[in-house]
Amino acid sequence: MKLHEYQAKEIFRRFEIPLPKGKVASSGDEAFQVARELKGPPWVVKAQVHAGGRGKGGGVKVVQTVEEVKKAATAILENPLVTKQTGPEGRRVHQVLIEEGVTIDREFYLAVVIDRARAQPVMIFSQAGGMEIEEVAARTPELVLKQFVDLKAGWMPYQGRNLAYAIDPLPGPEVLKELMAIMGKLYKVFITLDCSLAEINPLVITKDGKVMAIDAKITIDDNGLVRQKELAALDDPREKDPLEAKAIKHNLSYIRLNGNIGAMVNGAGLAMATMDVIKLAGAEPANFLDVGGGASEEMVTMGLEIILEDRNVKAILINIFGGILRCDVLARGVLAAAEKTAIKVPLIVRLEGTNVEEGRKILRESGLKFMVAKDIAEAAEMVTKQVSRSA
Ligand code: GDP
Ligand code: MN
Repeated sequence: MKLHEYQAKEIFRRFEIPLPKGKVASSGDEAFQVARELKGPPWVVKAQVHAGGRGKGGGVKVVQTVEEVKKAATAILENPLVTKQTGPEGRRVHQVLIEEGVTIDREFYLAVVIDRARAQPVMIFSQAGGMEIEEVAARTPELVLKQFVDLKAGWMPYQGRNLAYAIDPLPGPEVLKELMAIMGKLYKVFITLDCSLAEINPLVITKDGKVMAIDAKITIDDNGLVRQKELAALDDPREKDPLEAKAIKHNLSYIRLNGNIGAMVNGAGLAMATMDVIKLAGAEPANFLDVGGGASEEMVTMGLEIILEDRNVKAILINIFGGILRCDVLARGVLAAAEKTAIKVPLIVRLEGTNVEEGRKILRESGLKFMVAKDIAEAAEMVTKQVSRSA
């Protein structure tokens, strides 16, 4: 579960990580009032969305008057924000964070994440902050420093020194001390709150020598939410992909992806394998969808409806190995969906397992247009051919 920047900053404040003063607002007028209570100029107006790269996309504005705060806030709230991470259609912004602006001298990157291969937290630090860390890692990997954390020992002061004393040119002793203290605090946030990510980019040194978190990103591990009730309440459903939100409501494991082949599969393993085979055939899956081993007819219908609602989908592949979910139940679910929403894209079906004959018969006699594949490889070939034809 992702938090908004302003929510992450409230948490940082609780853990005494230094931050600029600020407050969230949901209209231009409110932004104006908030700015009048804050020190400025400059003020900073920041779009609150679950997407990075706001700075480059016009979602972060540094302004010099309270009137400009109102203007910037209104513009951000009224237009969808397009960044590298939102897709071309952009994202609606419901809130803006207004902050006291600071004059930046240097920008660093600091984050804690889980290193899955080592199964331990890792603190990542770079003196090339402000930019996307992926870019820094690709271009100048020597500037991305890591310290793996032993879970029993916790974050150790020497690890902070390993990171901070690598900065070139080396900042003064007060700044170094503050940087190392913030590292310890960020680790504490990460561990205490069951985070999968706690990130500050940029962590800055201001012109007057203060160290401050200018941005804040926290992601809570969904499996930790049972014991992080207070954080679970911070969830903002407006930020979820509408199709993913619908899937959650119906107990379907669905993740939207960038490709154009909709896939409906039963079983997570088979769903992953199906995506692999689609890619191997030269196409891209539009989603991961596991309707589940014991899916009901209604769940199959809902799954197919969700796929049909995705406008990027140019062909659909149904790959079902009937076990507990019998092939006849699948077939009825598909027909029910087809009755509600006309299926205008090619449909390729690969059915095997329990009640397969009955399932095939139901589909055959339904008048529904579809193609049958004998195995998963052929299914992927067929579906790929369909999209390349329509393109
Ligand atoms: P992101 O682009 O979504 O990661 O948003 P950030 O919060 O990181 O802001 C983007 C950039 O805006 C930062 O890297 C800074 O360069 C700039 N910025 C943000 N706040 C201030 C501020 O108070 N003063 C100045 N001068 N620049 C700021
Ligand atoms: Mn940032």
